[in-house]
Amino acid sequence: MSTLMVSVSGIRGIVGDGLDPNTLVKYVSAYADYCGGKIVVGRDARITGEMVYHLVVGTLLAKGIDVVDIGITPTPTVLLTVSKLKASGGIAISASHNPNEWNALKLLNNKGEFMFPEEHKDYIDLLEKSDNYVSWDKIGKLTVDNTALQSHINAVLSMQYIDVEAIKKRKFRVLLDCVNGAGVYVMPQLLKEFGCEVIEYDCEKTGIFTRKPEPLPENLIGTMESVKKHNVDIGIVVDPDVDRLVLITEKGETFGEENTIAQAVKFVLSKEKGNSVVNLSTTRSIDDIAKANNCEVFRSPVGEANVVKKMKEVNAIIGGEGSGGVIFPALHYGRDALVGTAIILQHLLEFGGKLSELKAELPEYHIAKAKIDVGTKNPDSLIKSLESKYSKQNINTDDGLRIDFEDHWVHFRKSNTEPIIRCIVEAKTELKAQEYIEKYFAELN
Ligand code: MG
Repeated sequence: MSTLMVSVSGIRGIVGDGLDPNTLVKYVSAYADYCGGKIVVGRDARITGEMVYHLVVGTLLAKGIDVVDIGITPTPTVLLTVSKLKASGGIAISASHNPNEWNALKLLNNKGEFMFPEEHKDYIDLLEKSDNYVSWDKIGKLTVDNTALQSHINAVLSMQYIDVEAIKKRKFRVLLDCVNGAGVYVMPQLLKEFGCEVIEYDCEKTGIFTRKPEPLPENLIGTMESVKKHNVDIGIVVDPDVDRLVLITEKGETFGEENTIAQAVKFVLSKEKGNSVVNLSTTRSIDDIAKANNCEVFRSPVGEANVVKKMKEVNAIIGGEGSGGVIFPALHYGRDALVGTAIILQHLLEFGGKLSELKAELPEYHIAKAKIDVGTKNPDSLIKSLESKYSKQNINTDDGLRIDFEDHWVHFRKSNTEPIIRCIVEAKTELKAQEYIEKYFAELN
């Protein structure tokens, strides 16, 4: 079966088994018709990026589109450059946290944000009518822009609430793990401009991931050991396209994937009061932190485009996702690990203690996750039956089913590709979270 997956978050597949040249040309042609004008193209460091890049750019030029090539960059750099250049669209060639064999096109709108579902639908409607190309004298122009990375760094250094001179004086010792991805091209420089002493770990420009590239604790054992060994203040880990940021404390322990956004919300709300937006699978810590600041939290369906849409609706001042994605709209509407890094360095500086102590001051919750195989049963009816069973509780059905109880919450979402229901539970202790997972597992079987 072909691995090609088409969704609002992109066109994704294994290279040579789904993501082939014909497919790329077809999807890029329709995107060219959808956007017109000028399109920014950037890619992460993975080794199939060059092949995908040439097909993408060749197709765009054949459609009469002018292309601005910004080279190997984080996905958020593509977002930022689209809005800076007032381009009509942007393509980030990246399969994000997926392993070496995957690649993908992340397609942006003319504001430099992920396409909204309605925009994506209009684009997909063009797929079967886009195999026409311009004549030889109307071919698009390709320009190379080598300034995008430094512009991104400069924008982050000038962010509100960030005191670069004060951070420089603190001389943080940082262990940086970029999993040999696009982060290598920008993160060491950013940290140096913050006056950090940087110990590089998997920071080679090979584009080959030496471990599973998703920044989950089980994939970061070597990184955690290295943090401890080098006696640093903080371990900073980014995913291959640098929109997710995960931290490791000076003790070599995980800071908690959910805590990246929790501390960012805490920091921003300490500076100004306003709304926060996170997705329905994100930790309840956000609610506790907002409540302590007399502020409100809004929840969106999972996915960057959904979070951004909600942030705009409620005029949020901070938002993101529990998987390490921080969105600070004063700079731009996209998950950005450079932004997250600036916030944590400033937060840690003002806090004055160690990262493990900062973690200890955040609310403590534990998340447990399970994939429940539903076999031939209909996942929608199973979720519906839970919805009626728990109808007297506080429920949200914007994205699957989330039920909030006094001592825990649970979120059920069906998969679009496999016969499974994903179940996420958060409770005060690891044991409790696991007990609840087992309870819901039994209820669905
Ligand atoms: Mg990513």
